[in-house]
Amino acid sequence: MEADKLFSSIKSKFLKPVEKILVSDWSEKHLQLPQTSAEPGLWRRDRAPYQSGLMDAVCEGSVRKVSIMTSAQTGKSTICNAIIARYIDIDPCPIMFTQPTIQLAQRFSKEKLSPMISDIKVLSDKIIQAERNAASTILMKLFKGGLLSMSGANSPASLASMSIRLLLCDEIDKYPPSAGNEGDPVELAIQRTATFWNSKVILVSTPSIKGASRISDSYEKSDKRLFFVPCPHCGHKQHLIWERIQYPGKDTEDFNPDLGVYYICESCDQPIAESSKSIMVQAGEWIPTATAENPNHVGFHCNRLISPWVNWLDMAYDYEASKDDPLQLQVFVNSSLGLPFERNLGDSLDWEKLHERSLNSSYQRGQIPQDVLVLTAGVDVQGDRLEVSIWGWGRGEQSWLIDHHQILGDPLENEVWRQLTDVIAKDYKFSFRTSKCNMY
Ligand SMILES: [Zn+2]
Repeated sequence: MEADKLFSSIKSKFLKPVEKILVSDWSEKHLQLPQTSAEPGLWRRDRAPYQSGLMDAVCEGSVRKVSIMTSAQTGKSTICNAIIARYIDIDPCPIMFTQPTIQLAQRFSKEKLSPMISDIKVLSDKIIQAERNAASTILMKLFKGGLLSMSGANSPASLASMSIRLLLCDEIDKYPPSAGNEGDPVELAIQRTATFWNSKVILVSTPSIKGASRISDSYEKSDKRLFFVPCPHCGHKQHLIWERIQYPGKDTEDFNPDLGVYYICESCDQPIAESSKSIMVQAGEWIPTATAENPNHVGFHCNRLISPWVNWLDMAYDYEASKDDPLQLQVFVNSSLGLPFERNLGDSLDWEKLHERSLNSSYQRGQIPQDVLVLTAGVDVQGDRLEVSIWGWGRGEQSWLIDHHQILGDPLENEVWRQLTDVIAKDYKFSFRTSKCNMY
């Protein structure tokens, strides 16, 4: 009896159970969206109801791994921030948040994390005290009961620093194949969770090319949850897909020009106006569509069709502008539809013919065909990388793509520009092989 009393006393003092507050419930009370977001202020569940399911999966008791394959502009930064913030406040533990590069991790800390901490009192009360400790840095925040480490997939040292219970890996399709010589950065980070029986791993990304997409491969192994919304006509619940969108200019005989942009219900074939989207999404729910390889692994896929921040007409414009260019079409498929790009799906591109052409071609990547007179370099500056294309130009504006480089890193830092200088300063040599003479 005495032992029972003693245990109860210890339990009440030291084994206080973690409050079962879902991330979405916590966010409705505390999560402030920054002034730079589309809708600053307190996060609202009803604004994008699908976000709740993405946030709360981590709170499901048996779940150990969450894979989120999503388009851009569906609020995935908000989801990651909400999960981190709720854990710091309610269930403090060692947390790691991994970005494609260490520079992006620093940028996240300065531009996203610090403002969030300042805006949320329950967090700032905890973190400020820790920041007085000399151990707190831009990439490491200490708080009562845990710490938050921000790491880069290109930095094996930052991935191997400690044991962690909560791991979030953002934009994993932009991670390098190997962190230095240490191997797959996602696996390296996951290894850090091995010592915690109650660890959680959250993988998030916009997908890239099918077959080479980490998030797509991971999602395929999960229970593949989709957000089903009811048709306003027949009530049938369905996952919205791009192929059922109708819009002016679409190459189809069935289009009704009086309706503008609309969706065709997969059950009753009735047109659904975009004005119904908000009501449909409010009544939506995440439903698993597969059996996961591991029952502790859940996965989510969503696209912009259900986003309150994107309208269907803009998506139609984007599609029409990109459909004839495989590189641009890939951006649309990845960023708008949240799907991996299957290169053989583009109607405008016959890959067999291209392959045949490449076999017969007289020039190889990085080498200059003999008809080239001048080279140009075009640089597309993205938030986390530079995309560099080297083009060769001949008479009559004939052009050849000579080379393409992706330089990962923060454009506000010097490193990517130093690497760009190396790319541009590189010697590109002529190939002397011609269609008449196989001589180099
Ligand atoms: Zn219907």
